[in-house]
Amino acid sequence: MIETIKYTLDTNESLCEICYTSHTGNDNFLVLSGCGHFFCKLCVNAYANDIISKGDITKLICPDFSGCKIVLNEVNLREVGLPEEVIEKEIRFSINQAIDRMEDFGWCPMA
Ligand SMILES: [Zn+2]
Ligand SMILES: [Zn+2]
Repeated sequence: MIETIKYTLDTNESLCEICYTSHTGNDNFLVLSGCGHFFCKLCVNAYANDIISKGDITKLICPDFSGCKIVLNEVNLREVGLPEEVIEKEIRFSINQAIDRMEDFGWCPMA
């Protein structure tokens, strides 16, 4: 199949900021409701999988380069097709993080 480069973006075709590939149709994209940024589901899948496997879920935010801080939630992770066990791992990490924050309560971070 020969692909032709289209310079005119039609309204249904959008560019993913992670891989710079354009896709047509919403099925290929995850649109974050908090900020409206969108990325291919495959890109978000790989991105989230990598972060969760490293256990650093504070980095599990919108991959936009503008420094967007919208958090990727479990609904987003399901939408991009992450396996349930990876999502459960993420949920466990967030619970641990919440407990850590509670234990930190009362501590002066500058001390
Ligand atoms: Zn992409
Ligand atoms: Zn964003």
